[in-house]
Amino acid sequence: MISVSEALERLFSLAAPLSAEEVPLHRAVGRVMVEPVTARRDQPPFHASAMDGYGVTEAVPGKRLKVIGESAAGSSFGGPVGDGEAVRIFTGAPVPEGVTAVVIQEDVDREGDTILITDRLGAGTNIRPLGGDFRIGETIPAPRLLGPQDIALLAAMNIATVRVARRPRVALISTGDELVMPGETPGPDQIIVSNTFGLHAMLTQAGAEPRILPIARDTEGSLTTVLGLVDDADLVITIGGASVGDHDLVAKVAASLGLERAFHKVAMRPGKPLMSGRLGGAMMIGLPGNPVSAMVCGEIFVKPVIRAMQGLPAAPAPRSTAPLAADIGSNGPREHYMRGRTEPDGRVTVFERQDSSLLSVLGASDVLVVRPPKDGPRAAGEAVEIVRL
Ligand code: AMP
Ligand code: MG
Repeated sequence: MISVSEALERLFSLAAPLSAEEVPLHRAVGRVMVEPVTARRDQPPFHASAMDGYGVTEAVPGKRLKVIGESAAGSSFGGPVGDGEAVRIFTGAPVPEGVTAVVIQEDVDREGDTILITDRLGAGTNIRPLGGDFRIGETIPAPRLLGPQDIALLAAMNIATVRVARRPRVALISTGDELVMPGETPGPDQIIVSNTFGLHAMLTQAGAEPRILPIARDTEGSLTTVLGLVDDADLVITIGGASVGDHDLVAKVAASLGLERAFHKVAMRPGKPLMSGRLGGAMMIGLPGNPVSAMVCGEIFVKPVIRAMQGLPAAPAPRSTAPLAADIGSNGPREHYMRGRTEPDGRVTVFERQDSSLLSVLGASDVLVVRPPKDGPRAAGEAVEIVRL
């Protein structure tokens, strides 16, 4: 058995980085930008008004000014503005030559073509300087996982398309005679396949392109047939059949198909029977069948691999710390990822029931509390490491 961090290192060394493709901005969210991008313009491209009001050469209470024109967003005022003059100006409009401040409309009294700056006058020029947001040549470094904020910034920089890593293609294979698909009518000794769907959702959110293959039955023939359908997947994930029971055929069949196995067992709870290696052109990860084990291994192993395949740094699932809401007992010899819930005060309650089959408990969880091997008992208020779900 190897440790979780050792297993992760080996997974990273098996994960081949993917090629890049050019996509339009509206398709780029959630993708990993692989090349730095440089602004092609200054923003704002001129000194711009931050408010609706009047552009003046000098903002002094009690001063009376003649309004000589208007500057709106998209249509600027042509000429200069002199002493004793003002220009009606709107948010985002270019500030005319000679204007040093925009007096907001609430701070003037207007009568016909003249305004009086009142003694309500606030501080500040209300002018956004040219290039105050970003300048030509400013660079967004890569690799970077693009969020909505990045997309807005790239658009403002006049970048219409970006180079991103190809989405990892993932084939998902559940194994087991007892499994039927959601919506089907299970026999008396059957259950509904859940892991495939949970992992499909997780992979989609992580930027991968998952595909659900038919359920493999617990025979060498069925498993061989389904593994023959993986086609051009970058990553093959099998679920279940990975321990040493009579029906656990994944290791045997994968080996007969040429799996170069990197490891088989990891010292963690839940999820001990985890397997990985390379199978043909793809990486393979064999996840345990117990639903919570499969999902926890997805968080701890599969998501970091998906990120690394897209060119992000090879790094474990981000951890932080939170105080415990109640005492918890000591841990056994394996690293334990306990299901827990964050309370409104920020403390974390570890659920009483930690069996790796309990999807309802996982569903109520928003954190995994990470217990190191042989960790002693912990008291309420003590800080523990967590992985947020
Ligand atoms: P196994 O690793 O195949 O021995 O499976 C361990 C447990 O997980 C058994 O109770 C299986 O019925 C269950 N299981 C395996 N695969 C899935 C799946 N895809 N969805 C839900 N439960 C599963
Ligand atoms: Mg099974």
